[in-house]
Amino acid sequence: MARILKYMDLTYKELSQLPRDKTLLFSVVGPLEVHGPHLPLGTDVMIALEAMKRVEERLAEEKPGLTIVELPPIVLGSDPLPLPGSIEISSKHLSGALYDMAASLAKQGFRALILFDNHGGPRHQLAIYKASRKAWKKHRFCLLDPFITLFKMMVKHHPRLMELTGLPPGRCGDDPDMHAGTNETSLVLASHPDKVRPIYRELKPSRIPPHRGSAKLILRIAGLLDRLGLKEAASDLAHLANTLAWVNTKPITPYLGSPAQATGEAGEKMLKAAVQLTLEAISQVLEGECPLDKPLLSFLSFLA
Ligand SMILES: [Zn+2]
Repeated sequence: MARILKYMDLTYKELSQLPRDKTLLFSVVGPLEVHGPHLPLGTDVMIALEAMKRVEERLAEEKPGLTIVELPPIVLGSDPLPLPGSIEISSKHLSGALYDMAASLAKQGFRALILFDNHGGPRHQLAIYKASRKAWKKHRFCLLDPFITLFKMMVKHHPRLMELTGLPPGRCGDDPDMHAGTNETSLVLASHPDKVRPIYRELKPSRIPPHRGSAKLILRIAGLLDRLGLKEAASDLAHLANTLAWVNTKPITPYLGSPAQATGEAGEKMLKAAVQLTLEAISQVLEGECPLDKPLLSFLSFLA
């Protein structure tokens, strides 16, 4: 059985005795953010905590000899929905805080910190990726956020994810279901059913509004890149255009997608897929690798 410990509960002597080559650190990262009238501000953190718990349960069964040390959640995130209630942390500070944590843990001989996350903010993911790359380059410390990969798979309808979850486009956390819609409401129904306000059943679907201003311009550039054969950059930019079309339309609808179609079963499917993909990434980390994946819009990393 793998041991699960909490960093906060240990003394420095107990911490110093943990075998570095058989210890993984875990934490959650994510913002406090408006999630419609039906989900709490801590939705991203709650979902990530549930995914972490499930991964720990699997590792406890499957990896005898492994020690997991949970750090308290890092409740920081960039690019939350810009409405009162959300707490915005600049990507520069997020990236700096995560890198400093990683460097400090690396100095103690630890090798990896796995982050559980449920936030798709563009500069949030760019900031984490930036911190991860620096931590790996400077310290060979693996700061890994597997949600970066999962989110990309959701947005791009990756065949493996669609097969793992059996969820259709429009209900898998892709652009039309980007925020507090079917997928995210389902995830909270599966993980914290008592936290979902019953009004979710009456909420009308919220769709991506017509692209205007910067969203329209970015969508045009995406079309141009697509015609030039730069498919990945084109689809990343189309995602950015969809995001901007939504958040730049005033008043902002505080969710995107259809909460009324959410079910606990759909949430279970997505959680199971998240756990599976995270366990696969952790297996690579235990082999000494660090499977860092570029986030969406990685060519805009200068923005973070
Ligand atoms: Zn969220």
